Amino acid sequence: MKQSVKLIVGNWKMHGLSAALVEAQALNDALRDGAASARVGVCPPATLIDRMRSVLADGPVELGGQDCHASPSGAFTGSISAEMLADAGAGLVILGHSERRTAFGETDAEVASKVEAAIAAGLEPIVCVGESLAQREAGEALAVVTAQVRGSLPMGLSDHPFAVAYEPVWAIGTGLTPTTTQIAEAHAAIRAAIIERLGQGASKAPILYGGSVKPDNAGEILAAPEVGGALVGGASLKAADFLGIIRAA
Ligand code: PEP
Repeated sequence: MKQSVKLIVGNWKMHGLSAALVEAQALNDALRDGAASARVGVCPPATLIDRMRSVLADGPVELGGQDCHASPSGAFTGSISAEMLADAGAGLVILGHSERRTAFGETDAEVASKVEAAIAAGLEPIVCVGESLAQREAGEALAVVTAQVRGSLPMGLSDHPFAVAYEPVWAIGTGLTPTTTQIAEAHAAIRAAIIERLGQGASKAPILYGGSVKPDNAGEILAAPEVGGALVGGASLKAADFLGIIRAA
């Protein structure tokens, strides 16, 4: 399906001190004239969200978190709830990123609980799925992403805005990307799994591609069937690089 407006989201991961706010400012200034045809978001470390809200005021760039706890509050030292992200100025939240699934052992069921918390707080979740290199080489890529969609999207999601991001683990931060045929196959499988899980009402939820998207490959990737946008790590840290991707949309 052709998506009219692409959603391009930057994931800053654990990068960014106060000095990095100038990059958000430059991005916002460059897009303020309404020239970009894409919807654009930045997900900085939680420590920057509130200050970035001031920097982005009156501009088109949206703000998001990179994770949230499944509970609205409680004795969870070091964690941040969806309500807290929304209170700080976020409208989006990345959930189930492979780095959290791998490094923090997050399961599909835990991701689904976080998605429920996000929608209860009025956030728009971006739910990440993607296979490892071993799973792709074993021919299991489509089965893996289908199972992750089934397990990570709670039924209540159908009435809320959300996105899914297809991020093959082996493409994240490596400079490797799947072929556009492989991306299209994965996105078609994810679309079928979303509809099977949530019904036709979810047939327009954007499916983003993520994994080594750069200004020079963004045009081809974003033109692939069922690619509704991009989730961008390293190339979102500098406004000039991120703008190159946004302008390819
Ligand atoms: C990511 O971590 O979500 C990501 C896509 O990273 P990169 O663009 O650096 O591969």
